[in-house]
Amino acid sequence: MNNVGVSRLSRIVLALTVLATACAAADQQPFYRRLSLLDTAAWRIGALKACSGASAFVLIAIDGVRSDEVFDGVNPAFAAAHGLRDSEMVGPDQLMPHLHRILRTNGVALGAPGHGPEIRSSGPAWCSLPGYQEIFTGHPVPDCRNNSCPAVARATLADEFAALSCSGPRGVAVISSWETIERAGAANPSAVVMSTGRNHGMTREKLMDDPALRDWLLAGERAKAFPGQDDYRPDRFTAGLGVQYLRAVRPRFLFLGLGDPDEHAHHNDYRAYLQSLRDSDQVIGQVASVLRDMERDGVSTTLVITTDHGRSRNFTGHGAGAPESGRVWLVVAGSRVLRTGRVEARRERYLADIAPTLRAMAGLAPDFTAGAGSVMDELFLAPIDLVARQ
Ligand SMILES: [Zn+2]
Repeated sequence: MNNVGVSRLSRIVLALTVLATACAAADQQPFYRRLSLLDTAAWRIGALKACSGASAFVLIAIDGVRSDEVFDGVNPAFAAAHGLRDSEMVGPDQLMPHLHRILRTNGVALGAPGHGPEIRSSGPAWCSLPGYQEIFTGHPVPDCRNNSCPAVARATLADEFAALSCSGPRGVAVISSWETIERAGAANPSAVVMSTGRNHGMTREKLMDDPALRDWLLAGERAKAFPGQDDYRPDRFTAGLGVQYLRAVRPRFLFLGLGDPDEHAHHNDYRAYLQSLRDSDQVIGQVASVLRDMERDGVSTTLVITTDHGRSRNFTGHGAGAPESGRVWLVVAGSRVLRTGRVEARRERYLADIAPTLRAMAGLAPDFTAGAGSVMDELFLAPIDLVARQ
């Protein structure tokens, strides 16, 4: 290709990248909204069932991770384009060994390439904030088309777990690298422990009481934002804080949001993206280890691992210009999961189906409002037994 062709291609790639990453607008909106009386009533009905046994739920979201690398390993075409060595060409078991060990022992995957209908972010923008709001609320958010939309107004999973009397004041935590997750995690953030980014999260001060948690929080504050920007907290600090919280507090619900893979992908650094997947997998292993300890102590645990969106064909972006970036994936593991390995969804599934599935597993009141997602009962052999096993 001659220089003129390269130059024209570069302009096209740049234009597509700008279009695909149009999620990046970042003005801050007030995020606190009061919840309706109907929401509160629904919680109370569910609370009696949901508190009937010791259980814990951990939801790990790894931002912007394609299903391809998770389930098929290093992509040969990207590896060649980015100059990776032959020794760096590894399969999924070497790239993310903890996740695949979980899948072999007590986990189920939906959305693996070649295994049935896709699981997707509903879009239409395939940006992060609508993806997280869909995960937390169990509803698509079609009006949220970038990362500047307002905070969630309806009750989220975190709100519902926090409303349980058995959760206690520190029983629900939302801990993430990306600060804007504070606009997805809870409609009533005062009721949960929330630390998003280096300095965001209105209840982050609750972490200062515990010396080990305070050390992680302060180390994160002092860190540079890279590979993110603004108030982004690099994953190693977020993960340190989240795993320590799980170990020390044993909350009923923990959301742990990692973000380095998406940031490295935006920098078009495939090697760093792969390393951040390995790092994320280490975190999965640490979380799984704590959950095994809790199981030994009689706590029924569930681990969910997913992503908020996939990636555009050119890898660096995602968003409204790249519908392929709506493809996501899901792993669910724990003592309630009665199947193992990669399973086929009965039909196309969505991020909005995660919250209803966790509600069913936790014994929380189902959401019958218009547009709500549905329970993914193909994850289980005996869905009717889910609540009975609490
Ligand atoms: Zn992104």
